[in-house]
Amino acid sequence: MTDNNIKTFEDLKSEVIETGLCGRCGGCVSVCSASGCGALKLGDSGIPEYTESEKCLEGGLCYLVCPRTDALRDELEARSDWVKPIGHYTDVLSARSTYADVRKHATDGGVVTSLLIHMLETGHIDGAVVSVTTEMFNRKAIVATTREELLNAAGSHFSELPHLEEVGEMYSGFVPIVKQINYFKQEKKPRRLAVVGTPCQITAIKKMQAVSIVPSDIIKYTIGLFCMQCFEMDNLMDKEFIKSRNISPDDIASVNVKEDFILNMKSGIQVHIPMNEVEKIARPACLRCSHFSNDFADVSVGGLGSPDGYTTVMIRTIEGKQRFADAMFGGSIELISGMTKEDRKADRLRKVALIKEFAARKKVRAESYKGRS
Ligand SMILES: Cc1cc2nc3c(=O)[nH]c(=O)nc-3n(C[C@H](O)[C@H](O)[C@H](O)COP(=O)(O)OP(=O)(O)OC[C@H]3O[C@@H](n4cnc5c(N)ncnc54)[C@H](O)[C@@H]3O)c2cc1C
Ligand code: SF4
Ligand code: SF4
Ligand code: SF4
Repeated sequence: MTDNNIKTFEDLKSEVIETGLCGRCGGCVSVCSASGCGALKLGDSGIPEYTESEKCLEGGLCYLVCPRTDALRDELEARSDWVKPIGHYTDVLSARSTYADVRKHATDGGVVTSLLIHMLETGHIDGAVVSVTTEMFNRKAIVATTREELLNAAGSHFSELPHLEEVGEMYSGFVPIVKQINYFKQEKKPRRLAVVGTPCQITAIKKMQAVSIVPSDIIKYTIGLFCMQCFEMDNLMDKEFIKSRNISPDDIASVNVKEDFILNMKSGIQVHIPMNEVEKIARPACLRCSHFSNDFADVSVGGLGSPDGYTTVMIRTIEGKQRFADAMFGGSIELISGMTKEDRKADRLRKVALIKEFAARKKVRAESYKGRS
């Protein structure tokens, strides 16, 4: 810590990086370069490090925006009318894309991709920060500015891929999307962007916005993914939960994460693996993370609580509600059909209870991993 009590990258190193909490979101690097200092970079493993420590002006922006510190937490809660335990929301429902091509590639119901396509085509955004598979074992963040690019970023394209490691890449390849936002600003194009991200990524962006750090001003809409964990899928075939089930990688079409870790087999059957069994392949930083429901996003989404082929959507903010309603009335998204008003009410309560249960489980797990090496 510096003399004036401002916490700097030295504190991030000791409190977050060296304690195994860094989720590699890239937020600290992004603000450091946006502020013109350029003292940080993401190292080969995705962990931030100094480019040259002499460049550091000790202003502490990196510490402020890091989603793993408590800095600015009160501010974020106040700005989002946060309430315990899963934040503010006005509705929770199941929906899906009306576009067959989106549903074909999507993880769940394709709501994320359809919402982005609708916002793009109706001029509410100029692009969206999403992630795409570039080559084997490699996903990267891009700014998608066309329907095709958004479609390419949707869900997983697992069926054509030969190896189980690649199947898992959707959930293992953590993408430092926050860095991508900075890149886009440097292009000097005035942009309104949407961002899709995990809770750590969206929290970093919201922290940047709370202290008005450029380039967070160009983020107009955030879609937050529920997130129990990211996985490290190296040598997956050696893992006990695969070996014990006698599963061949060639038989797997795709993976998903909902109540369980799900292998969708090419034969059409699903193999459900309890979350505690896949904990061993979770990134260590994720096991120490307590954010599940992406409380500060405009809408939060996941598969949890919805039937296959549908996305669970938590509408949180006025902007979130408006854009979702636009997409629904514009014909891009449809609600699950055949439900009475009473059914929807009961279904909403069931979903909320489930989301609270998973959020609580994640908190308990994070506590239990505190201080463990
Ligand atoms: C790492 C990870 C963990 C998840 N954990 C859970 C969970 O525990 N429980 C649950 O219910 N749901 C979880 N989800 C969310 C779920 O898998 C679906 O993404 C969500 O339901 C939206 O489905 P969709 O069909 O509407 O999205 P789609 O239309 O398929 O769009 C998905 C979007 O997510 C983006 N994306 C994919 N991977 C990443 C990434 N690593 N970082 C940032 N953006 C990404 C894609 O670019 C795309 O824009 C997780 C997602 C991820 C990426
Ligand atoms: S210049 Fe600021 S943002 Fe960059 S490392 Fe130093 S304290 Fe962090
Ligand atoms: S801001 Fe992100 S990348 Fe930087 S230390 Fe925190 S978690 Fe790690
Ligand atoms: S569990 Fe999810 S939100 Fe938490 S650090 Fe991992 S990727 Fe980020």
